[in-house]
Amino acid sequence: MKEVKKKRKDAIAKKVENTKQETVQQEVKGPNLQELEFEIQKDLTKKRRYPILFIILFLLLIVLYVFLHMFVPKITLNGSNTIEISYSDTYQELGANAKFLGKDFTKKIKITENVDTSKIGTYQVIYSLKEGIFHIQKERTVKVVDQKSPTIELDGEGEYNVCPNEKFKEIGFTATDEYDGNLTEKVKVKETNEGILYTVEDSSHNKYSITRKINYVDTTPPEITLKGNQTMYINLKETYQEPGFTATDNCNGDVTEKVVVTGTVTNGKIGTYSITYQVTDDSGNKKTVTRTVIVSEKTDPNSGVYKKGVIYLTFDDGPSNVTTGAILDVLKEEGIKATFFVTNNGPDYLIKRMYDEGHTVALHTASHEYSQVYASMDSYFNDLKIVSDRVKRITGQTSKIVRFPGGSSNTVSRNYSIGIMTKLSEALFSQGYRYYDWNIDSQDAAGANRDKVYQNVTQSLSKNKMNIVLMHDIKIATRDAIRDIIHYGKENGYTFERIDMDTYMIRQRINN
Ligand code: ZN
Repeated sequence: MKEVKKKRKDAIAKKVENTKQETVQQEVKGPNLQELEFEIQKDLTKKRRYPILFIILFLLLIVLYVFLHMFVPKITLNGSNTIEISYSDTYQELGANAKFLGKDFTKKIKITENVDTSKIGTYQVIYSLKEGIFHIQKERTVKVVDQKSPTIELDGEGEYNVCPNEKFKEIGFTATDEYDGNLTEKVKVKETNEGILYTVEDSSHNKYSITRKINYVDTTPPEITLKGNQTMYINLKETYQEPGFTATDNCNGDVTEKVVVTGTVTNGKIGTYSITYQVTDDSGNKKTVTRTVIVSEKTDPNSGVYKKGVIYLTFDDGPSNVTTGAILDVLKEEGIKATFFVTNNGPDYLIKRMYDEGHTVALHTASHEYSQVYASMDSYFNDLKIVSDRVKRITGQTSKIVRFPGGSSNTVSRNYSIGIMTKLSEALFSQGYRYYDWNIDSQDAAGANRDKVYQNVTQSLSKNKMNIVLMHDIKIATRDAIRDIIHYGKENGYTFERIDMDTYMIRQRINN
């Protein structure tokens, strides 16, 4: 047992000894000086080799680059790499080509494009080619642009004359751009020395401008409107009274107060007198109107101007509450002046309206009763005076234009006084009156309906004569036909006038 222990002890001791020896051997084995020297030498050589490696690498890169360019398929674009087209044009693909080592690969180029010419923007067209290990790609830039300028349309005229004391009142404009659409809201309006400058810019900064020329001048003279007739006939026994006038100017408004009246009428002395009305506006534009006053013993039955193709609408027996107002409305709307031979009928305000609206208020007799009117000379003139006084009271004017009840050719007067029409006509002339019959009868007094009234009038009109139309403003048929009659006249080239003292007297043959 002791021996075994000893053996083991010895073995252990030997092992420890061996280990110690190995350790010592290892320590002795480290690099010797020679080896170190060699290592240092090697390191030095390495460091000297580095620049050479870089140069070689660089040369290889150049070779690679050249190789890639010379021996790799290449895509060449037809046309420019960057192209600009208008949004309204269509994009035309110009294509590309590719060749490599004598072979044509053009057909293998795949083109991808999404150019939307309806939308402004920058698009890329891609050309790609896959061939063997190569996958090459090229791009073309397509710019869709708006180069078209917008436009401005001016309402009205391109040039205006505006009163020096006024500003031009805008009458409108529209700006449109083919790409942006309506740009009216973006228009800038500016006053310049030349006029009004309108400028607009679209979303692509294309500009447009236009000028509306404005001349701050007044070249229009004032208008003078004479009340009463331009030619007045005054009987020797009458006194001339200025009927009045109004004057308006386009720039200065009412200039009645600036009218200068010159000339006088010597009452009771036969002669032709001129009264001159002159007015000047602030810009020096002058207007002169003359009224001729004829003081005479009697009216010349053959005097007056015969106007062919003119329609004189005449209305007898009114005014009437029922129909006259409506007829005056139509005349006003149509801008027509007519003649009313009034009686004692109806309200005063309608006569006032006739006068104020520029119609001739003429005399028909107050009662219109044949038995009374044609009973005697005095009876006629008494009746005439009643209506004449009424008109004078309402309008301030004495009317010297008359129409006989039944016309001058009536035979009904024979029942009351033989030869009275001949005597009355002479008496009227000698007192400075003028009387008017008619040459077209609407037959409204005889009961013609609306259509018949229209037919009777329009079928009798002629361009070769004066057309004095007999109607009655107390008739519903006439009220209802009058607008169409006026339209017919206008459409067929007739003009409408009221009877005045210068109008030629259409007279029928006297039968009594
Ligand atoms: Zn009558």
